[in-house]
Amino acid sequence: MKLGLIGLGNMGGRIAKRLLERGNQLHVYDVNADVLNDFEMMGAKTADSIKEVSFENEYVITVLPNADIVKKVVLGEEGLIFGLKPNSVLIDMTSSTPEVTKEISTVLEKHGIKMLDAPISGGVKRAEEGDLAVMVGGEESVLSEVLPFLEDIGSKITHVGESGAGHAIKALNNLISATTLSITLEALAVGIKYGLDPYKMLNVINNSTGKNNSSENKVAQQILSGKYEVGFSLDLMYKDLTTAIELSKRVQVPASVSSSVFQLWKYASLQGNGEIIDHTAIAKVIEQISDVKFGTSL
Ligand code: NAD
Repeated sequence: MKLGLIGLGNMGGRIAKRLLERGNQLHVYDVNADVLNDFEMMGAKTADSIKEVSFENEYVITVLPNADIVKKVVLGEEGLIFGLKPNSVLIDMTSSTPEVTKEISTVLEKHGIKMLDAPISGGVKRAEEGDLAVMVGGEESVLSEVLPFLEDIGSKITHVGESGAGHAIKALNNLISATTLSITLEALAVGIKYGLDPYKMLNVINNSTGKNNSSENKVAQQILSGKYEVGFSLDLMYKDLTTAIELSKRVQVPASVSSSVFQLWKYASLQGNGEIIDHTAIAKVIEQISDVKFGTSL
């Protein structure tokens, strides 16, 4: 099975490493040449261009920042479409947008190329362990074809519907994730200003009905500790919220809670550096608007 992977960042890099560890032959490309050297040392074949990956592989995974970049990498000048042969499969693990995915998939179909949207959840730690949740949109028969190597990456693989469905669910999942992080921090800010100890508050919340993934795995570990390094940037989360809000407008759901969370993250992104700071730095904005300190400064 000839397998290519484009985008060796926080997630793509770990997925590539995991695929290599599981004995897959991998042909990789990233615009950042430094990362390519690292993967050459790990036993991957490295490519000088997207074109090279497209000519030499029947299965190509993309793990890229956003929909615009995926579109450029697949349909742009020298994009994958010019080299992929009929019956080859593109598996887009980017958190992209359903509409762009449907558009790309329709164009590829005309060339006999199959596409799945297969975004991921679980973060860098679960990527390292091959324990990601993968939500797949597209033909179920194509999923069966690529399942052997998807199972090297993820332990919870779910077919969720037609093309774009995976990307829709991914955005909605992250809407919930951003919301629970924001509301947990907002509640903590109120408690701290009232004179409560943040660690005691967290302890109570995690033994009560307010418990959520952020309260259990992010607030003490990343924010109160001052680490801020989950490995998922603020702007990538903001991108997912934008996708979720667009989706809610498309289907005419008022989404009032989502809109409020979206505004908070939009404000945070507008402060700049969102591409490089961790998404947990949303805490800095809540500190600023609440006039409170959660822990060690960035
Ligand atoms: P990242 O910014 O760390 O990595 C993106 C990689 O893509 C970089 O190495 C970059 O050089 C490369 N790249 C950019 N443009 C390119 C191009 N034109 N051609 C080739 N390579 C290109 O991002 P990440 O955190 O790995 O996230 C990747 C995707 O996965 C995003 O869509 C993100 O929303 C999603 N995601 C991330 C996490 C996480 O915890 N980091 C979790 C789930 C999903």
